[in-house]
Amino acid sequence: MDLAVQTRGLSKSYAGVHAVDGIDLEVPRHSVFGFLGPNGAGKTTTMKMLLGLIRPTSGSGSVFGLDITTDSPRVRGRVGYLPQEPRFYPRMTARETLRFAAGFFYSGPADAIEARIEEMLELVGLSGKADRPVKTLSGGETQRLGIAQAQIHQPDLLILDEPAAALDPLGRRDVLAILEQFRATSTVFYSTHILDDVQRVSDIVCILKDGRIVSQGPLEQVLAGGSESVFVAVVE
Ligand code: ATP
Repeated sequence: MDLAVQTRGLSKSYAGVHAVDGIDLEVPRHSVFGFLGPNGAGKTTTMKMLLGLIRPTSGSGSVFGLDITTDSPRVRGRVGYLPQEPRFYPRMTARETLRFAAGFFYSGPADAIEARIEEMLELVGLSGKADRPVKTLSGGETQRLGIAQAQIHQPDLLILDEPAAALDPLGRRDVLAILEQFRATSTVFYSTHILDDVQRVSDIVCILKDGRIVSQGPLEQVLAGGSESVFVAVVE
């Protein structure tokens, strides 16, 4: 199988806490991978290890065959990341925000950069609000801007930490619809604690609890229970 992400026994411990405890992930290229688990399951810690922002205590991992500990700058060159609580300059407009991000990641003629920004604004449904300061955007619009920013340099893998969790049902639906569109051009690895989200938009699902994988595989297989039954109760 052609994998975007693979880990073997990946673990991270903090004094007395096994945040991530020996996980083996397999994320096929061009899949939407739903990483499902309750608060504190270890989702953010796993994502940060894949990005090289946290060093594993033990185990290994690769992104497009690049080692996550020894090759992390090259990994980051191929990955777009939306943290759980993205921060923006409130007075910058949406367009300026994307131009600022593009300055770090995207080299090329100015008109190509502007065209890319326009394309991203269109994709996330912000074309009509492109020249408004970020502080005037709604939560859902801000989150969609974050997705556009993570995607500005055309990464092969998008890692999105709870991109829809803080939104109302309509906002979540919009964000999930955007994720689905990225399947054709890249691989999407996103976390959520909401079962309904992975049911709506995922090809492969991994359920994490207390740092361990409870179940992993194609959506229908995991939700059907496979060899073991899985129950996830979410209280919102
Ligand atoms: P949430 O959805 O609440 O963000 P999560 O699944 O992303 O949850 P993590 O943030 O990865 O979970 O945390 C996993 C566990 O590791 C938690 O018990 C957390 O308290 C612990 N943890 C994370 N970072 C640290 C740290 N720097 N020091 C100590 N413990 C930590």
